[in-house]
Amino acid sequence: MNETMTPELQIPLTGLKTYPETTLFSVSGDFFEAFGQEEVLDADVCLTASLDKEASGFSLDLHFEGRLVLRCDRCMEEMDWPLSFSARYALRRASDKELEDVEETEDGREIIPLDASDKFFDLSQLVYDELFLSIPIRHTHPDGKCNPESTKYLTDKPGGEGEMMDTPFAGLKDLKL
Ligand SMILES: [Zn+2]
Repeated sequence: MNETMTPELQIPLTGLKTYPETTLFSVSGDFFEAFGQEEVLDADVCLTASLDKEASGFSLDLHFEGRLVLRCDRCMEEMDWPLSFSARYALRRASDKELEDVEETEDGREIIPLDASDKFFDLSQLVYDELFLSIPIRHTHPDGKCNPESTKYLTDKPGGEGEMMDTPFAGLKDLKL
């Protein structure tokens, strides 16, 4: 779906001369916009993709380093969300019949089936999923760093009821033991 949208997020699977073949990509705010994602206001992420040949396909290592710009859940102002993490995948060529039986993981890596004729691998969906899933459901400025004008009338202040509800035991205080 994304070939016309983010052609730069493709790595060739054939004709590679060195392994691992490492490619650098940059992911900007336009990337999330193209996915119709409005929660990420902007992005400045450096992506390192290393492709290593294996007997039955490729090992793909991704490393993300940079920041996303999100909206703070407390004061609704923009905030930087720094990130640095890695993800590993196993790319496997398989016939249609084999694809039905393919395992979901191998050595802790998610298996991505490849078409036997694929000459490129499009990273767009993987990159989107990894970055989007790295965002916690609740993201706020560090305590005391919110815009004071925006939080003046909020009850969701550090130590307030909003914070209490984030802990898994928040409901316990209402239990009669
Ligand atoms: Zn804030």
